[in-house]
Amino acid sequence: MIINLNEAFKRQSNLVAFNFFNIETISGILDAAQEKDRIVILSFGESYMEHTPIEVAAAMASEYSKLYKKPFVLHLDHATRMETVEKALHLGFSSVMFDGSKLTLEENIFNTTMAVQHAKRFGATVEGELGYLNNEDGSDEIELVYTSVKDSLRFVSETGVDALAVAVGNAHGIYKSKPSINVDRIKEIHASVGVPLVLHGSSGIPMEVLAQSFEAGVGKINVNTELALAGCRGTREYMDSFGENPRFENAMRMARVEIKKAAMEFLDL
Ligand SMILES: [Zn+2]
Repeated sequence: MIINLNEAFKRQSNLVAFNFFNIETISGILDAAQEKDRIVILSFGESYMEHTPIEVAAAMASEYSKLYKKPFVLHLDHATRMETVEKALHLGFSSVMFDGSKLTLEENIFNTTMAVQHAKRFGATVEGELGYLNNEDGSDEIELVYTSVKDSLRFVSETGVDALAVAVGNAHGIYKSKPSINVDRIKEIHASVGVPLVLHGSSGIPMEVLAQSFEAGVGKINVNTELALAGCRGTREYMDSFGENPRFENAMRMARVEIKKAAMEFLDL
């Protein structure tokens, strides 16, 4: 069963969103969810659309929802175009993120409000983002700016989002030094806005800091890099052991196993 973010929060706190774009990622994540008996968020990024049509991602999720007992959220990650939001909603995504973090605060509020209005018609939930993070693949470095409490309050009350992604020392990709997460800022923002906060770039943040973040008001953490590395690890291990005549399907099976293992570690939080 596919449920929206609010329904997921009613059943379970501390949600983990994992990115998927193919059979190995979706089945690895759902294998982990089933074994740990946890609701997860399957996150499909707008940036994957070149490789995996969003129609295919939605169809995969719909079919897999029949194969696994545990419900999950089907979420659109980092959508910067309203047409992607609309398309996802029509295809059955139960949750969408509109990423207006590169826009001015006014433009971000205007666009995110539109996304909320669209989503409501479909019974879907919306995540907004305030405070600019680096590119999703971690390819650029930016100066650290924390999301402000004042802007958060205005953003959430004017847009009506169900969850808010914040910048509190987190970044996408691989951290070059130990990340320093401002847990106090999480507390302050959460006390002010009331809705669950979202921590992007959770791969590489120590588990105890993720646990503190959950306690401080984060409701959802996003894990992408850790699974991307795990998939490659599985593939490489297979390639190393069958150097001469490797078979692609066997490599993909190993990738799925490693993705499952990596996802399971986050589901103990
Ligand atoms: Zn992100």
